[in-house]
Amino acid sequence: APELSPLAEMGERDDESTLRPRRLAEFVGQPRVREQLRLVLEGAKGRGAPPDHVLLSGPPGLGKTSLSMIIAAELGSALRITSGPALERAGDLAAMLSNLVEGDVLFIDEIHRIARPAEEMLYLAMEDFRVDVVVGKGPGATSIPLEIAPFTLVGATTRSGALTGPLRDRFGFTAHMEFYVPEELEQVLRRSATILGVDLREDGAHEIAGRSRGTPRIANRLLRRVRDYAEVRADGAVTRDIARAALKVYDVDELGLDRLDRAVLSALVRSFGGGPVGVSTLAVAVGEESTTVEEVCEPYLVRAGMLARTPRGRVATAAAWAHLGLSAPPQAPG
Ligand code: ADP
Repeated sequence: APELSPLAEMGERDDESTLRPRRLAEFVGQPRVREQLRLVLEGAKGRGAPPDHVLLSGPPGLGKTSLSMIIAAELGSALRITSGPALERAGDLAAMLSNLVEGDVLFIDEIHRIARPAEEMLYLAMEDFRVDVVVGKGPGATSIPLEIAPFTLVGATTRSGALTGPLRDRFGFTAHMEFYVPEELEQVLRRSATILGVDLREDGAHEIAGRSRGTPRIANRLLRRVRDYAEVRADGAVTRDIARAALKVYDVDELGLDRLDRAVLSALVRSFGGGPVGVSTLAVAVGEESTTVEEVCEPYLVRAGMLARTPRGRVATAAAWAHLGLSAPPQAPG
C-alpha cells in the first residue's frame, strides 16, 4: 500500500509552508468561498458529523491546498494527502480509504487525473462510506464489501470541466476560486513580509501585487526575488523602484506576464496572425504541454483580456497586439 505522502514529498517548499494561512480567518480574499465554507463547516460541527465533500476548482496557486488544510484544522481533524495521478490502481485508493479514521479529511489534488477504476471506487466511498474490494480474477472473482469510516473528501482541480458528471455530482459543495484582485494580493504580501521579516513599503507592495497574475503563490515568489535584489543591490527596503528593477531582471512585465505567457501571445499573433488556432497547435509552437498552456497560461491571459477562447480556437484580442507593440488587424476582438 502506498504511504499517505506528506507534503514535503509533493515538492512543498519550506517557505511555502511557512507562508500558508492556517485558519479561515487568515485566508485572504475569496470572500464568497470563505463565507460559504464557514457555513458548511459550522453546520457540520453543530451536527457533530463530517461535512459534505468539497470540490475546489481554479488555476494553480490560488489556495486550494491551503484551504484543504484549513478545512481539516477548523474541524480539528487529521488531513490525509494524495493526488489523482498517484491513484493509478484502485487498490491504492482502497488501502488509503480503509486507513481513514472517522472525521478525517482526505485531500486529492488534481482529482481530474484519477484513473477510471479508482474513480468508480470513489463513488461508493463518497456516497455510502463503503468500498467493494475485488478478490481473485475471472469467473471466480468475488467482491467483498468493506465499511470505511465517515470522512470528508476535498478534491482540487485546475479543470472542473474535465471531471466526469457522476464524480462532480457527489460533491455537496463546490468552490470556484477566482483570481485575486491587487488589493487582496497586497494583503497577502504584507502578511508574508511580516512572516519573512521583509521591509516591504506600501508602494513596493502595490507594484508587486500588480504583477502577480492574480495569484498568491506568484506574489510570494516575486516578493522573495525582490527581497534578494533589495538586500544585494540596495539597503533591503522593498520600494516601488526596487520592485521594478528586480522584476525587470526576472523578466516579469508590467502586467505580470512571464516568459511563457508572452511566448504564447507572440506565437498566436506572429505565427498564426492572431488566430483562431487550436490550443495543441499553439502549445507545440511554444514547446510546452497543451495542459500547461490551457491550465496555467490561458486562464490569466483570458482574465487579462489578452486572449479569447472561441469554438474555432484561440484568438488574440486587440489588447494582446498592443501589448506586443503591434497594431491589431481591424477584425481582432475587443
Ligand atoms: P493551490 O493548491 O491552489 O495550487 P496553494 O494552496 O498551494 O495553491 O497556495 C500556494 C501558496 O500561496 C501558499 O503557500 C500560500 O502561501 C499562498 N496563498 C494562497 N492562497 C492564499 C490566501 N488566500 N491567503 C494567503 N496566502 C495564500
